[in-house]
Amino acid sequence: AYRIRDIIKLLAVAPHFNVATHVEVDGEVLDRDTDEIALEVAEKALAEWGKPEGELTYLKRAPETLYNKWQKYGVLPRNVDREVVEIMHRTHIGVDQDYKNLMKQGTRTAIADGWGGSMMATDLQDILFGAPSPLQSEANLGVLKEDQVNIVIHGHEPVLSEMIVVVSQAPEMIEYAQSKGAKGIQLSGICCTANEILQRHGVPLCGTFLQQELAIITGACDAMVVDIQCIFQNVANVAKCFHTKLITTHPIAKMEQENAIHIEFDEYHAIEDAKKIVKLAIDNFQNRSADVMIPAQKAPQVAGFGVESIEYHLGGTFRGSYYTLNDNIINGRIRGVAGVVGCNNARTKHNEGHIEVVKELIKNDVLVITTGCNGIACAMEGLLTPESAGVYCGPGLTEVCETVGIPPVLHMGSCVDNSRILLAATEMVKAGGLGDDISDLPVAGSAPEWMSEKAISIGQYFVASGVYTVFGVTLPIAGAPVFQKYLFETFEEMYGGMWDLEVDPVKHARKMIAHIDKKRAALGIDKARERVMVDMAARREMAV
Ligand code: SF4
Repeated sequence: AYRIRDIIKLLAVAPHFNVATHVEVDGEVLDRDTDEIALEVAEKALAEWGKPEGELTYLKRAPETLYNKWQKYGVLPRNVDREVVEIMHRTHIGVDQDYKNLMKQGTRTAIADGWGGSMMATDLQDILFGAPSPLQSEANLGVLKEDQVNIVIHGHEPVLSEMIVVVSQAPEMIEYAQSKGAKGIQLSGICCTANEILQRHGVPLCGTFLQQELAIITGACDAMVVDIQCIFQNVANVAKCFHTKLITTHPIAKMEQENAIHIEFDEYHAIEDAKKIVKLAIDNFQNRSADVMIPAQKAPQVAGFGVESIEYHLGGTFRGSYYTLNDNIINGRIRGVAGVVGCNNARTKHNEGHIEVVKELIKNDVLVITTGCNGIACAMEGLLTPESAGVYCGPGLTEVCETVGIPPVLHMGSCVDNSRILLAATEMVKAGGLGDDISDLPVAGSAPEWMSEKAISIGQYFVASGVYTVFGVTLPIAGAPVFQKYLFETFEEMYGGMWDLEVDPVKHARKMIAHIDKKRAALGIDKARERVMVDMAARREMAV
């Protein structure tokens, strides 16, 4: 069922694992067989989780200045699993009692996540399923269809859902659905599995983490297929009150409730498993009660951005680099770039933090890159359309978005795809004119409504990569002022990036903008922006 869909990506990734893409035969250099390259890449990638010697090979993808900092502070990860095991041991009772030493290992583990496990997962998924490129879709509960079989995919792993996409589009399955009285099969998604299949296939987003139960209570969800992470413990209880079949698929994530059906996914029989699931959903269509209530709300979106497609859109076909993005930052049309990512938090009003932070940023000409549930929130708010630039953005960002035809908020995928943001920042460093490290760039990071454990790891790998990173809601460090000072101030001296906490979304965004301005001043490009703002105002006046 699986094959290499993106050979260009495979050839781009192979050198990072020191895998040859050419062979010499009788003095002649020839292209190496693709399957051979793929096999060696796979073996080398798997070894990164447990190799006994050396360090992660992907670390060399970081700017050299950053790599040297990691070396200086002794935080180069050796392999992914070893760093996780070691931090688990060090936080066991009675082991490491020095907060600086603990954070040294915490940093090493976080780098193993961002520049290791997550980055490799993104690359391998792109090779198998294709690197994303911009496409149109929709978002919110209104994507569910009353007259079709609704299958909602939820979780974080695209390996099975890719096959569900294939099977649900097969003519025999559509005919089978029609034989049961449905007009077709509507696939949609929740959380990051949704983001994965949105990015590559345009499958619409049904909702965020906090909307998973709402999808069921529409009465129109014939099957919810879950894999790992972010699945509410209560979702089975809610499904019990409706006709929804709740299907768990992963051996490490089962549910005890009797109504949860476990169809264990096995990649050797991926299509058969996907067929079983889709058929179960179709058979359940006729069990719907009369009370189907699907909210009308949904918004159009353009998603599917990646490191490569940003390069294409902001670099042009011929130039093909991040030069144009940098140029627009240097000339002040774009003030800076913000990565706004992460979860929804049940302690806050749904999406309020996400939307207010993002709107404040784009209003001030900061281009936003998004992943995870922030991406879903922005999609539902209509911020992922090129047209939204003219409504919500400052004049400089509006001009760039309208010229290039991109939204002011670029959706780069799931939480694991935060690694794409690290690589986009690295490309900005390489394109030149904005310093020689990520910490020199006018960029900032944010997770306005974070809640999951991995958000902390993601925050730490951004900080250790040189990014000022602001969290909303709360951080469990308020009672430890010495430790807080270490995270909020000392880290800046070490890595150039540091943590911050700001609950108020507007202040949160303004702190990020202040940091971006600080970096612009350090680069000597603050004056350029003042000039452009005046020019734009003058131009508008002339237009009136
Ligand atoms: S962003 Fe957070 S809540 Fe949303 S799917 Fe990812 S981990 Fe879960």
